[in-house]
Amino acid sequence: MELTKRQEQIVEIVKKDGPITGEEIAGKLSLIRATLRPDLSILTMSGFLEARPRVGYYYTGKTSVNLVAKVIQKIKVGDIKSVPIVVRDSANVYDAVVTMFLEDVGTLFVVREGGYLEGVISRKDLLKTAMGGSDLHQMPISVVMTRMPNLITTTPEEPILMASKKLATREVDALPVVTPVIDSNGEEALKVVGRVTKTNITRLFVELGEGKM
Ligand code: ADP
Repeated sequence: MELTKRQEQIVEIVKKDGPITGEEIAGKLSLIRATLRPDLSILTMSGFLEARPRVGYYYTGKTSVNLVAKVIQKIKVGDIKSVPIVVRDSANVYDAVVTMFLEDVGTLFVVREGGYLEGVISRKDLLKTAMGGSDLHQMPISVVMTRMPNLITTTPEEPILMASKKLATREVDALPVVTPVIDSNGEEALKVVGRVTKTNITRLFVELGEGKM
């Protein structure tokens, strides 16, 4: 958040002389209290200043950078996830190529009946298979996918910051958003409920930058 020149002056005054009343701040700026009212409410609402009754304004020590961090830390994967694009584990590599092309995504999640996560398949996995020269119609997807337990996943409740760190440090483009469940065989399984990609994070970055989150 960018402060106006006057708001910056107010922050400086409060930093130096706080706690200080609105009246006193106005006096230092040779203005009347009413003129400052909108600035003071912006500064208190955004967390730069705090107002204590009968004491006045004091500086909270928060900068706009750590205020942005605070906003980011509250955002959960579930707030920004996209719908997952999945293929069944019975599909062949050709089916996966067609799905990836038609759905306009870079990563597909492979699921078994019931929508439980089995694997992940990326563009490069498909290119590598195509380069190998095998018949793509005959090649089962399960042979070329990255499979459990090597999958990096996230959940709707996970902070987006954690999911972004996984994308960055593990150098993958997408994470399946899953919820742990017990399947019909009584086994632990991961139900695929969404996807988080570098595109989601980029979009969020733009929205934060434009002050829309
Ligand atoms: P690209 O293939 O376009 O470079 P990625 O960097 O996402 O895309 O994929 C690199 C490798 O990591 C691929 O072999 C892919 O199967 C695997 N992979 C992709 N996403 C995940 C994930 N969430 N968990 C585990 N492995 C993944």
